[in-house]
Amino acid sequence: MGDWSGGSGGGYGGGGYGGRPREVHKAVCAECKQECEVPFKPSGDRPVYCKACFAKRKGNQ
Ligand SMILES: [Zn+2]
Repeated sequence: MGDWSGGSGGGYGGGGYGGRPREVHKAVCAECKQECEVPFKPSGDRPVYCKACFAKRKGNQ
């Protein structure tokens, strides 16, 4: 799993600058009911999980 820890060590040779603001959306974890931020827009259609619960579920399956 690549948890690309966003740091200032990257040197993308692509165009432009690598300072793209990460878009995050506030959501409430369906499991622990904690407020969290997700990198996608919660549709309300499916439950949103925080990082911890997401990992827990994944390992649990
Ligand atoms: Zn959670």
